[in-house]
Amino acid sequence: MRQSVKMLTIAAAVGMGTILGGHPLKTNAESVPSLKEKQSNIQEQRSGVNSNINDAQGQINELQNQQANAKSEMQQIDLAIATTTKEIEAKTAKLNETKAEIAKLQDEIKVIADRIEKRNLLLKDRIRSYQETGGVVNYLDVLMGATSFSDFVDRANAVATIMQADQEILKQQETDKQALQDKENQVEKDLANIEKMVADLQKMNQQLSAQRAEKDKLLAQLAQQEGEVKEYMMDLQEQEQILAAQENAIQKAIQLEQERQAAAAKAAAEAAAAAKAAAASSGGSSVSAAPAPAVSSGSFTRPAAGSITSTYGVRGGTMHWGVDIAQAGTVPVVAAADGVVYVSHYSSSYGNVVYILHNINGQMYTTVYAHMRSAGVPEGTVVKKGQQIGIMGNTGDSRGQHLHFELYRGKWAFHTAINPMGIVPL
Ligand SMILES: [Zn+2]
Repeated sequence: MRQSVKMLTIAAAVGMGTILGGHPLKTNAESVPSLKEKQSNIQEQRSGVNSNINDAQGQINELQNQQANAKSEMQQIDLAIATTTKEIEAKTAKLNETKAEIAKLQDEIKVIADRIEKRNLLLKDRIRSYQETGGVVNYLDVLMGATSFSDFVDRANAVATIMQADQEILKQQETDKQALQDKENQVEKDLANIEKMVADLQKMNQQLSAQRAEKDKLLAQLAQQEGEVKEYMMDLQEQEQILAAQENAIQKAIQLEQERQAAAAKAAAEAAAAAKAAAASSGGSSVSAAPAPAVSSGSFTRPAAGSITSTYGVRGGTMHWGVDIAQAGTVPVVAAADGVVYVSHYSSSYGNVVYILHNINGQMYTTVYAHMRSAGVPEGTVVKKGQQIGIMGNTGDSRGQHLHFELYRGKWAFHTAINPMGIVPL
């Protein structure tokens, strides 16, 4: 089980006619130039992958800049929210103070109003008593009772003063009451202003919170994009690593082939010399040159025991680039054919994985063994068909223990695996 690596496709290049490994294979005069061609082909692929890595790094930088901007904008918003919240608190406190002031003024107004009411009643009573008991007459009596003119003036002044005093007090109290009411009106106006201010601030706070939520969302999106690009870049880096290892493996193959050709030429010369000597001594019976190597027809073997749980092909809308073999317990994984291990590492997608380059009768193949519990062969190891290279496992992007096995005709290239059925006995 393995999710397909995204976004990038490297052009497939199919290799032909290569000699590789330490055991004798059919001689092929073109193998060294052909290997060199493959090598330069891989170099081209690597520069393509590297330019994609640079692009991805550029995208990551851009996304990180955007995130930094969004974060600083968010800080501004947070600051504004803090300021408005503080302002709301202050205004709310002011609001409560004003309300208390209004209540106090209303109490004072009530006290004065009560006092005016009482005095009014008192005056009314007094007027009524003047009328009923002839109070006015009594005042007149008071005036008429004057013993002298100056006494009369005194008495008249006294009467006027008493009556006027009542009117003055009443008038003063009405003025006080009016002043309090004016003040109350003013404070009520202040209260309405403060209430409006608080409402405006709260509205502003809501808008700021909405802006903040937007920024949160943007940040989450940017972080997700960055994660995707990073994953993509990891895929690219893994590809680059595999291509580089492959290039080295082919370099090694060139060297081995050159050594083999030199050894073969030397052996042929020696055999020819020996035959000549033998012919000279025995008088003519011919002897054959170096024996032809046995060409293996059953070149591949099954990489692990177990049942096939998923075949090569489209599976649930996604291409499955290999065959899955599953079995419980400690299950050895073996090399499907003779070859050279050129990748043996851990990958987040493939888990513990081994890549082997094979040369089967002049045809290059690559096999991949993924999700292993452990990989038991270092890079550069020359392996034989059926030799154990690891143990079946459940590492990397895998659900349940199984071997994910891939086959490539020629060298490995992204998304170019072929169906191993019919080539590898599975
Ligand atoms: Zn699989």
